[in-house]
Amino acid sequence: RPERQRKPDWIRVKAPVSKGYHETRTLMRELNLNTVCEEAACPNIGECWTKKHATVMILGDVCTRACAFCNVKTGMPRKVDPLEPEHVAAAAARLGLEHIVVTSVDRDDLPDGGAGQFVKVIEALRRNTPSTTIEILTPDFRGKMRPAVEAICAAGPDVYNHNLETVPRLYPTIRPGARYYASLRLLEEVKRHDPMIFTKSGIMLGLGEERLEVHQVMDDMRSAEVDFLTMGQYLQPTPKHAKVADFVTPQVFGAYGAIARAKGFLQVASSPLTRSSYHAGDDFAQMKAA
Ligand code: SF4
Ligand code: SF4
Repeated sequence: RPERQRKPDWIRVKAPVSKGYHETRTLMRELNLNTVCEEAACPNIGECWTKKHATVMILGDVCTRACAFCNVKTGMPRKVDPLEPEHVAAAAARLGLEHIVVTSVDRDDLPDGGAGQFVKVIEALRRNTPSTTIEILTPDFRGKMRPAVEAICAAGPDVYNHNLETVPRLYPTIRPGARYYASLRLLEEVKRHDPMIFTKSGIMLGLGEERLEVHQVMDDMRSAEVDFLTMGQYLQPTPKHAKVADFVTPQVFGAYGAIARAKGFLQVASSPLTRSSYHAGDDFAQMKAA
């Protein structure tokens, strides 16, 4: 059995034991909702759930793709749950969320790629918790991108996130089902439809990318007018997943962050434990207030 790689000291996570953690967990079970926090084995779950901040994962817990970095199950997904949009809205109301992040597995099996369910979730949230700001993190809707983006933008999320995940050279091994330029085009398309929607994207570091490749990704994102950027350390969820090529130091994350700000991103989060939804609500509130 391959051994797990030892993590450096700067990647320390607290065990999830608080009351808030248990309350969030119980609520998600009651409403039959999945979270990316659990499915992706996110290292921040203790901290986020204590603050009752969770990222809901719609359209089931089985993905039609199998990215080399991702802990979500792969296979034949289940039927779409028609009650899911109301359940997401109920979770937002009961947790008292000012900001919600909603993501999904890839549903290449569905004719609309799952875009219709995103629209229903946004509508249910607007009806039930109109003051909650909405951030969605969508798949690339391979082959169905334009109609999917059009429908979702018309529903009016506050932030549209789609992660590029890594540099283009590493796509064939890390994100084999996706195309780098198709993901960039999706981000461009969102801005084209509605320039008022903030766009956001992110990459993981520590997969073997070179410094200049990271700079190039930042430039590509800026030329697609991406507003917010997140960068975090890739952690291997199980020994079967892609190996960590290197643990990037907090100083190097800081340097990347400074470069990103100089390139004109409105908001940048760059640290080993940054994830695309980490502190998303706080960051968005700060940005709106600025
Ligand atoms: Fe969940 Fe995001 Fe927090 Fe991780 S960073 S626990 S995915 S909300
Ligand atoms: Fe995980 Fe998304 Fe890749 Fe599916 S498409 S395996 S959920 S990263």
